[in-house]
Amino acid sequence: AKDTGRNRYQFYTEELTQRAQERLMTESRLRQAIRDKAFVLHYQPIYTKGEDGGAPSIFSCECLIRWQQDDGSLIYPDLFIPCAEETGLIIPIGEWVLDHACAQLAEWDARLPDNTLSMAVNISARHFCDANFVMTVHEVLKRHAIAPARLIIEITENAVMDRMDIAIPTLETLVRTGVRIALDDFGTGHSSLAKLKTLPIHALKIDREFVKDIPDSTDDMQLAASIIRMAQGLHLQTVAEGVETQEQYDFLAQAGCDKFQGYLLSRPVTAEKIYTLLAASAEL
Ligand code: C2E
Ligand code: CA
Ligand code: CA
Ligand code: CA
Repeated sequence: AKDTGRNRYQFYTEELTQRAQERLMTESRLRQAIRDKAFVLHYQPIYTKGEDGGAPSIFSCECLIRWQQDDGSLIYPDLFIPCAEETGLIIPIGEWVLDHACAQLAEWDARLPDNTLSMAVNISARHFCDANFVMTVHEVLKRHAIAPARLIIEITENAVMDRMDIAIPTLETLVRTGVRIALDDFGTGHSSLAKLKTLPIHALKIDREFVKDIPDSTDDMQLAASIIRMAQGLHLQTVAEGVETQEQYDFLAQAGCDKFQGYLLSRPVTAEKIYTLLAASAEL
């Protein structure tokens, strides 16, 4: 029995060591990537309903990070953001994202007549709760001469709800200076209405989980519609994520959803492609 115990122990540590090594590998590769600035942002437009039955128009863009490999391929965030969060590397990565996104907005501004586009940036809980976060945001906005109201910080529902003590003062400071806040992945977390109503935020992003099975799931249709109604009651904007079909768009629009994002309207694309879309709508 002792032997089996020891073998099992050995097996367990070997497995752990392998996992730790894999993590270390990614961690050191991530550190190198930060030094090399080996990341790229793609941008997915977020649309408002068209006026008087016209085509939807671009209101903002959400920037989405990708990690560029030596062979030119891209690694998607779900594969490296968890490691970045665990190791704290999410802070320098998040700072790069903020800086790069605002620099990009300033670059579009210089080439377009209408400088009203907003930029939505995903910020991890660990970064949001960092003591220097608010200062970083202000420095970046100043560096690129971006009006605070054009920056939308997307923070997940749980990140806020789990750390209300830190999150509320941070949200209040950001909002006081004009930055806008969207609660990301809404509906998948554990907000109570009582907590939600005290938050200084501007929008709820309805998670794709509630959108993807419309119109097959009447439950999801009810849930999406009730999130929209609740948001309206709290004077919050709603953004539907992952809209892939016209039926989903029509249902959500009729339910009162304000903004739409998803493959139906556009996939995440390069900065140059966004410029082309913006220039086309400005009739340049
Ligand atoms: P998210 O914030 O919920 O972003 C939406 C994700 O859904 C993106 O995946 C986007 O490409 C994808 N998506 C958009 N429209 C559709 C659609 O119609 N159908 C489907 N199936 N998917 C759609 P992506 O780019 O792989 O990002 C995954 C997650 O990684 C994001 O989820 C966000 O949580 C995180 N992330 C992305 N960029 C950053 C970043 O710069 N910083 C941090 N901290 N997290 C990031
Ligand atoms: Ca997001
Ligand atoms: Ca989501
Ligand atoms: Ca997410």
